[in-house]
Amino acid sequence: MLRLDKLVKTYKTGDQALKAVELEVPEGQVLALIGPSGAGKSTLIRCINRLVEPTSGKVYLGDVELTGLSSGALRRERRRMGMIFQEYALVERLTVMENVLSGRLGYVGFWRSFLRRFPQSDVDEAFRLLDRVGLAHMADKRADELSGGQRQRVGICRALIQNPALLLVDEPTASLDPKTSRQIMRLICELCQERGLAAIINIHDVALAQMFVQRVIGLRFGAIEFDGPPDGLTPEV
Ligand code: ADP
Ligand code: ADP
Repeated sequence: MLRLDKLVKTYKTGDQALKAVELEVPEGQVLALIGPSGAGKSTLIRCINRLVEPTSGKVYLGDVELTGLSSGALRRERRRMGMIFQEYALVERLTVMENVLSGRLGYVGFWRSFLRRFPQSDVDEAFRLLDRVGLAHMADKRADELSGGQRQRVGICRALIQNPALLLVDEPTASLDPKTSRQIMRLICELCQERGLAAIINIHDVALAQMFVQRVIGLRFGAIEFDGPPDGLTPEV
């Protein structure tokens, strides 16, 4: 489903964030990316959808080589990759419903007037998703009225309404308390299972990864140093 072939990222500053990373993710698999701060986790996630341009190496999503695409073709392929962020990246002044619908546009920045053009089927789907994450009753609330956990639920719905083949999740719980973090991780993993969706979750908290995923990738100094089930992991990996 997703394949990284000798993926290298060296920033202009000389930081070697990724050193020839090789990784294959089968369809429907949810994996956690762990490792110390600075290990390259965010860079890895961002190289997949080319929010960060890899220095060399290839990224394949199915049969498509993302690293070879022009910007127009890349924009289309990005719609197959849902992204969930640490800081939610909601548009504060828009409602919950509007934020979810913005996922149909495939990018986060947009004008309010666009929202009037969404077909009823999109609105219905947004309601179904909000209902699934327990937020249907908040559809008309403004994003800035929500708690952190509620915001992240909206972020999840916004990613899923794209109907992606792959979820890229960057530190989804870093701004949340431990209980809410567990709820959000459980929700993401359940939704992936329900939809047969593959996901890469950059997660700082090893214990959380151990609770919810079957495969953990340990990254250190830009290289994979662990790949396997989380049972054998010690917390300092
Ligand atoms: P985190 O590891 O929690 O994502 P970082 O402190 O690594 O946070 O990065 C915060 C932001 O600063 C990111 O956008 C990252 O790309 C950028 N950044 C991190 N390290 C550097 C650096 N050495 N030079 C320039 N930008 C950096
Ligand atoms: P992690 O997500 O595991 O904390 P990052 O991918 O943020 O790691 O960072 C990996 C390395 O790349 C670090 O050495 C960081 O300082 C560097 N880095 C990250 N973003 C940038 C950037 N925009 N410019 C320069 N260096 C960066």
